[in-house]
Order: sequence, then structure tokens, then C-alpha cells
Amino acid sequence: MHYKEVKAILSPQNGMNLYRGCTHGCIYCDSRSTCYKMDHDFEDIEVKAGAVNLLENTLKKKRRKGMIGTGSMMDPYMPLEAELKLMRQCLTQIARFEFGVVIQTKSKLILRDLDLLEEINKKTKCVVAITLTTYDEELCRKLEPNVCTTRERFEVLMKLKERGIPTIVWISPILPYINDTEENMRGLLDYCVKAGVYGIMYFGAGMTLRDGNRQYYYSQLDKLFPGLKERYIKEFGDQYEVLSPQVDKLNKLVYNTCEEHGIVYDKDELFRYMREYKNNTVGEQLSLFDYMS
Ligand code: SF4
Repeated sequence: MHYKEVKAILSPQNGMNLYRGCTHGCIYCDSRSTCYKMDHDFEDIEVKAGAVNLLENTLKKKRRKGMIGTGSMMDPYMPLEAELKLMRQCLTQIARFEFGVVIQTKSKLILRDLDLLEEINKKTKCVVAITLTTYDEELCRKLEPNVCTTRERFEVLMKLKERGIPTIVWISPILPYINDTEENMRGLLDYCVKAGVYGIMYFGAGMTLRDGNRQYYYSQLDKLFPGLKERYIKEFGDQYEVLSPQVDKLNKLVYNTCEEHGIVYDKDELFRYMREYKNNTVGEQLSLFDYMS
């Protein structure tokens, strides 16, 4: 890891990334793509120096409160966080200034901060988004080698449910000829139903491949699924969007299950929900436009 001095900790849309790079090792990771212009090794994590003070000063000055989002292009609960506790300190500031938060993660380390998530959710709103891709535990270990398995993530979802913290499951990506089976999808959907998730963010049965992540993915296919890279090259060439041959069947299964159990799957609606700030202490509801200023 290495530190980097930064001038700001929140993006104009209130996105907060304390780290850059990721050590979870997902074989399909899009954040490895060269278009993101990372100037260091992906696993050599860049830590934003002074992030907690920066956040404190920023939140103090904000005229309007809103939702803060974290977890895109990295996981805020990488093993490094267990030691540095930057996320925990930032959540303390978020709770203190009565902002809301949306956290995307695959890691059970988030349970360490359950007290703060609960506090934020009581005062305003805390949404946890957990990614699930692979029901089979052994296969999950191969695809996402350095983070807890799907079963453990399901246990995280159940704990959040017990505390009344709303959750959204991202079922993505679905990798052709690997996890694109009906059995896999049924297993994941069953977890979602049991955990009473608010929504499922699903982009269809497929994945994206572009420069940087394609090379890494193919090198992992060679290691884990010999012969599959050649099949991808033959069928998909250098397409950006790579769809599973099971796409129609799997999409239908997801949408029908969501309809049946009252799970929100409309992507626009889910994004709206994650952006909508709510203050329980004053009974006030603010829209996206209120907190963007
Ligand atoms: S958790 Fe996300 S950022 Fe980290 S390796 Fe996996 S896909 Fe990439």
C-alpha cells in the first residue's frame, strides 16, 4: 500500500473512495481496465491520506445533507481496512453530521461497523449493497479468491435484515459458461428472498470485457478453466459486451422471482432509492437535487 495526498474526498455526486485498487482478486474485475488510468499496480492499494479530516471538514461545510456513496471500483472493506479503520472513522463522521450512506461491498468485515450502520439508519438512511455472483462455494473461491464466499455474504445480509438495515444485492457479472446456469441463479435468488432484500440490481446475464480486464480475465481462465479462453475468443471476438447464451432464460427467472416476492429490480428506481436522502430526526425527505447543491 502507499499513501496519496488528495485535495478532496467527495466527488460532486458525493461519491467517496478511500482506497484505489483492490485485493479481493475477482477474476472478472472491470476496475483493472486501462481506461481508468491507474498509475500503480492494482493490488498496491492507494490510500487517500488525511481522508477522515477531509471528510469531517467537507461535511461540516455542506449546506444540505444527502447520501454518500462508496464502493465503486474498489471495496471499502478490504483486509487493509481491518488495520487502518478509515471506513469506520468516516462512518463516525457521517453519523455525526447526519448524512446517509450507501455502501457496496463483498466483505463480511462490514459487520464490524454494524453499530454505526444502525446509528446512521436510525438518524437517516443506510443502504448496504452486497454483490453475489456464485452460489457454489467452491466455484466462488475460484472466481473471487480473496474475499468471503457467497454463503458468508448471505449471513451478512441476514444480520443486516435483523437490524432493519435495507439491502440491495447486485447479481453481476454472470460469466458465460461459468456461473450462467439456472441452478446458480436459483441459489442466489433464494438467498435474496430469504434475506428480504429491498432490491436486486441486475444488468442481464453477461459481462463486459475491455482492455486490461480482458487480459487479466483470460489469464485466469487459462489457469482455472483450460480451453475456455479459446471458446470466448471464437464466440465473442473482442466484443465489449459478452452475453451468456442463457441470457433470456436467466433474465426471465430474475424478473419473475422479483415480481413474485415484491423485490425492486427496476434499475432507475433502485438508483433513485439509493440517492434519496431521508432524515428521520426531522421527518424531512429530500430529493436528489437538494443534496447535490
Ligand atoms: S471487489 Fe470489485 S474492485 Fe475488488 S477485485 Fe472484486 S470486482 Fe474488482
